[in-house]
Amino acid sequence: MNDFHRKNDLLVFADEEKESPILKQEIKVDTSYWRILIVDDDEDVHAATKFALKGMSILGRELKFYHAYSAKEAQDILANENGIAVVFLDVVMESSNAGLDMVSIIRDELKIKNTRIILRTGEPNQAPGIAVVRDYDINDYKLKSEITQQSLYTCLTSALRSYQQICEIEEGRKGLDSVIQSTSNLMARRSGISFYKSIIAQVASLLAVEPVGFICGKELENQAEATIISALGRYVSEEEKTLASLSFEHEKKLIEKSFSKKSNVVEDNIVVLYIGSPIRGEMCCLISSTARVPDIDKYLLELFSSNISICTDNITYVEKLKTQAYHDSLVDLPNRTALENVIDQHLAAEKGKDYALALVDIDNFAEINASLGQEYGDKILQVTADRLKNRFYSPCTVARISSDVFAVFGPPSYITNERIKQPFSDPFEIGGELQLLSVTVGVVPANEMQSSGSEVIKDASIVLKQAKKSHRGEVVIYHHSMIDQACSRLDMLKNLRTAFELDELFLVYQPKLCLKTLEVRGFEALLRWRNREGNFVSPADFIPLAEQSGLIIRMGEWVLRKALSELNELQNMGLSNVKMAVNLSVAQLQQQDIVETLKRVMSEFSLDTNYVELEITESIAMGDIVAIIEKLKMMKAMGFCLAIDDFGTGFSSLNYLQDMPLDCLKIDKSFVQTTESKRGREIVQMIVNLARALNLNVIAEGVETEEQAQLLRNLDCDEMQGFLYARPMPAVELHKWLQAHRPNH
Ligand code: C2E
Ligand code: CA
Ligand code: CA
Repeated sequence: MNDFHRKNDLLVFADEEKESPILKQEIKVDTSYWRILIVDDDEDVHAATKFALKGMSILGRELKFYHAYSAKEAQDILANENGIAVVFLDVVMESSNAGLDMVSIIRDELKIKNTRIILRTGEPNQAPGIAVVRDYDINDYKLKSEITQQSLYTCLTSALRSYQQICEIEEGRKGLDSVIQSTSNLMARRSGISFYKSIIAQVASLLAVEPVGFICGKELENQAEATIISALGRYVSEEEKTLASLSFEHEKKLIEKSFSKKSNVVEDNIVVLYIGSPIRGEMCCLISSTARVPDIDKYLLELFSSNISICTDNITYVEKLKTQAYHDSLVDLPNRTALENVIDQHLAAEKGKDYALALVDIDNFAEINASLGQEYGDKILQVTADRLKNRFYSPCTVARISSDVFAVFGPPSYITNERIKQPFSDPFEIGGELQLLSVTVGVVPANEMQSSGSEVIKDASIVLKQAKKSHRGEVVIYHHSMIDQACSRLDMLKNLRTAFELDELFLVYQPKLCLKTLEVRGFEALLRWRNREGNFVSPADFIPLAEQSGLIIRMGEWVLRKALSELNELQNMGLSNVKMAVNLSVAQLQQQDIVETLKRVMSEFSLDTNYVELEITESIAMGDIVAIIEKLKMMKAMGFCLAIDDFGTGFSSLNYLQDMPLDCLKIDKSFVQTTESKRGREIVQMIVNLARALNLNVIAEGVETEEQAQLLRNLDCDEMQGFLYARPMPAVELHKWLQAHRPNH
């Protein structure tokens, strides 16, 4: 390994480097003189030759003589000395064939092809045969008697000229090999940074100098501003600078010249290769050397630069593909994967520890999207992205991590309540309309950062979820205990599952009464769970868990069976004209076989479906509303009574109300409990009127006071359900209550 390659070893990419074939021998050869070897056992011949050529310069170079007095000595010199241009070889030395044997050693054993051989003999009859001249590529054949200055000069000049040509051809071939080799080395590189460094190294290697230089490039979009993309050696500190601010004045001029002429610039110690890449944009590779840069064929350099541009284009394609995997093109922002990488990098470089992450969720985006269309939704996302981008730039990173969730990662001084919410304080103009957006924000502060980007984003998502549940439109800061809550939800689900399997859940029944007569019209079955610690867990907490996990499907079937069996019991007790209501969650309604399930459970009892009421919560989450209406129609056809629960709180199913085969509207307790206010009364009145218009029964839930009951009576509501007359009760208690209850006929 020569010096050049040993130094190269220090570079990071050296492992990928292949030795450049062009450098092997020639790098050490001083090409300022011609090397001439005189092989003759006669000292006089040496002296005469030297004397005849003394002080001469041929083809611009001086001559340097090497002397061998035997074939053996000649062989040693040829083996150790590179670049012997011409050998004057005595045919007859120790033996009559020693000279010709020597020729065969030079060509066949030492494999020296370029060196020119001039045979010399004492006698004309010692001349070699034609075959020898041809096979061993012998330049000339001379009689020693002809050693005159003139004849020596003529034959040496022609030998040197042919040596020079052969070397140039050889050089060209090696150069081509080298270009091909360098190109394939470059092609093998995938990553951008090491690719540009390797261009510098490959160009340097082609020029046979040390890899000291830099690449300066112009982006396609931003033609004016050329920057230093990559640098090696003493230019390393220039990396990422603009060309204008380059500290090396002369180099700057050469680069500018190369860019303006769109061609290579060659000086004694500096070569600038112009690399035009239609995809990446123009680049220049400057190589600088303390020693004179060896001459290299102009065409080879051009061939090399055009090869590099092809490689650059290919690499740029690969990079572009990579970017697409990390880029959200709808809003022109990094995506979740990219954000994870950014956070990972910051966490790895200690300073990242004091960055915070905020997730920004647009309130009611799903509803807006559903009601105003996806195109409108996309616009909202784009304007939101723009506002965030304008507000948070370097050192912050803005990304979109899921449909309507954006992220801002940056120093805590940026991630403050005011700053995060500021972009949303003014309305957005979308399609000529003004739209005010509110956002809910979950923040993971710097001191709560986990070990990896994906963990941090997960934590932020937990806060965001909790914020959306109970702090819509607000900024909520993550605290580690929230993880515990999230874990405890998981624990809760596990416990719920176990309790369900062990038949530890039970139903309570809440009577529904006629508002006017207080007669019992029916009951609502409500699920209860008392956990191992003996505490009641609210269905408002565990029902959503059961819905999310799918447990509600089996649980719902169990509730129906239990409720029907209680209805059977009540009928046997003589209450022949009461209904039993069960709640059906949306998850159940979305089940393909919900109608089959109802049929199957009904078939276990000899009950009339007319006495079974299904309470369905009005909700935007209904999803495929058309399919659900189809199922409701089948249930209706089977004879079930259908009620809309929590009426008035849902979002848009009002449009579908007429298509739904309903029997009853159930006014949500939040309206019932605000009937003291005019607005509350108006809403209740409106719902009652609507029910009348649709010919539906109407019931008010959550009636707690006599005033509320009276008001509902005045508003002509049909039924009521509430703590005022009866709380939800287990079967045994309910039976006692029924015996005590005296309606006023
Ligand atoms: P919901 O269907 O609206 O049930 C009525 C809720 O109001 C019940 O709460 C009931 O206890 C409560 N309530 C009744 N009267 C009053 C009153 O005068 N004042 C007040 N403040 N509240 C009253 P609960 O039992 O906690 O149930 C909560 C929700 O859980 C139910 O709301 C229902 O959506 C769901 N749920 C309960 N059991 C089941 C079930 O078996 N299946 C399904 N899918 N959901 C159920
Ligand atoms: Ca209900
Ligand atoms: Ca309700």
